[in-house]
Amino acid sequence: MAARIIRKIVPVSRSGAAQYSSGVRKVTLIPGHGIGPEITVAVQKIFEAAKVPIEWDEVDVTAVRGPDGKMGIPQKAIDSVNANKIGLKGPLMTPVGKGYRSLNLALRKEFDLYANVRPCKSMEGIKTLYDNVDVVTIRENTEGEYSGIEHEIVDGVVQSIKLITEEASMRVAEFAFVFAKENKRKKVTAVHKANIMRMSDGLFLRCCRDVATKYPDIKFEERYLDTVCLNMVQDPAKFDVLVMPNLYGDIMSDLCSGLVGGLGLTPSGNIGKNGALFESVHGTAPAIAGKDMANPTALLLSGVMMLRHLNLHKEAQMIERACFRVLREGKVLTPDLGGTGTCSGYTAEVHGTAPDLAGK
Ligand code: NAD
Repeated sequence: MAARIIRKIVPVSRSGAAQYSSGVRKVTLIPGHGIGPEITVAVQKIFEAAKVPIEWDEVDVTAVRGPDGKMGIPQKAIDSVNANKIGLKGPLMTPVGKGYRSLNLALRKEFDLYANVRPCKSMEGIKTLYDNVDVVTIRENTEGEYSGIEHEIVDGVVQSIKLITEEASMRVAEFAFVFAKENKRKKVTAVHKANIMRMSDGLFLRCCRDVATKYPDIKFEERYLDTVCLNMVQDPAKFDVLVMPNLYGDIMSDLCSGLVGGLGLTPSGNIGKNGALFESVHGTAPAIAGKDMANPTALLLSGVMMLRHLNLHKEAQMIERACFRVLREGKVLTPDLGGTGTCSGYTAEVHGTAPDLAGK
C-alpha cells in the first residue's frame, strides 16, 4: 500500500518547555557512540545549509567513574545541559553488566525529563503495511521498572522494583492532555496492566482518569497493553495519543516505529520543566557504525522537533520538507529502507534541495 503525503510529521508540545530567548540559541550537542557521530555530522550539515540560528555546544558523554565507583555522565555534559536547557543527542551505549548504569537513564533523571514523546507517522515513499499511521506515544520517563531499584535477595533470586508515584503519573498524564490539546489531537489512550498490577498501574490509571476530567473536549479511553499491541498492528488508525508507564512506552514506541518504516526514521523528545533533550529512538547500531550506512533521518527529525520546541518553525518546516522530498523521491535511501544509498549521500541530497532549504 502506498503511503500518503504527510506534511508535518513532528508535532511538539510546548508543555513544560523552558522559555528560550530569541536570536542565536546555544544548544548542547552530544554526538554519542556507534553511528552517533556520523548521523550527528549529517544533521549539522543540513542545519548549516538551512541557516538555523543555533550554536552547538558539543560535549562528549563517554562514561566516567563517579565517587560511588559507578560509571556515569561526565560533569562537563551536565554543566552544558544545565546552562543551555536544550540539547540534541546521539545514541549512547550501555554495556550490560555490573557497575554500569544507563547514561540515557542518568541524563533523563539528572534533568528530570519526565515525558518522552515519540511521534510515528506514515511517510510518503516508505513502503509499509499501512499508510495512515499517525500516533504519538508519551512515555513516563523517570520511574516504573526503570527506577534502577534491583537487588539479589539470595543467590539465584533477584528482586526488581517497579516504582509508580502519584506525582510522576499526574504530571505525565497532564503532559499528554496538554500535548493533545496543543496539537489538535482528539483522543488520549491510557495504556496499562492494572488488571494484574493493580496497585502500581492502578495508581497510574487513576491519575490519567483524574486528569482526563479536566479536558472534556479530548476523548479519553483506557486499554490493556496487550490489547493495544494487537489492535495497533491490526488497525493503527484506532489510536491517536497514548500515555503509559516507562517500560510499556519503551516497547510500544518501537512497535509503532516498525509500522512506519523502522528505527532509522523515528524521532523523540525527552521533555521536563526546565529543559529538553531530543534524540532518535534507535541505539548505537554497532554493526553498521563507521560504514556510512546509517540512516540519519531519525536524528534529523528529532532536530526538527527541537527547532519547533525553540519556536524556530520556519527552519523546522524547511528541513522537514527537504527530508520528506528526498524520502519520497527514493533515490538515496539507506539500506535499512531497502536502498543502496549512504548516510553521506542522503545528507548531501537533503542539503542539496536548495529550494526547500531556502523556504521556497
Ligand atoms: P539499535 O537501535 O542500536 O539497533 C537495532 C537495529 O536497528 C540494528 O539492526 C541496527 O543496525 C538498526 N538501526 C538502528 N538505528 C539505525 C539507523 N539510524 N540506520 C540504520 N539502521 C539502524 O538497538 P540495539 O542493538 O539493541 O542497541 C545497541 C546499543 O545502543 C546498546 O548499547 C543499547 O544500550 C544502546 N541504545 C541506546 C539508546 C539511546 O541512546 N537512546 C537507545 C536504544 C539502545
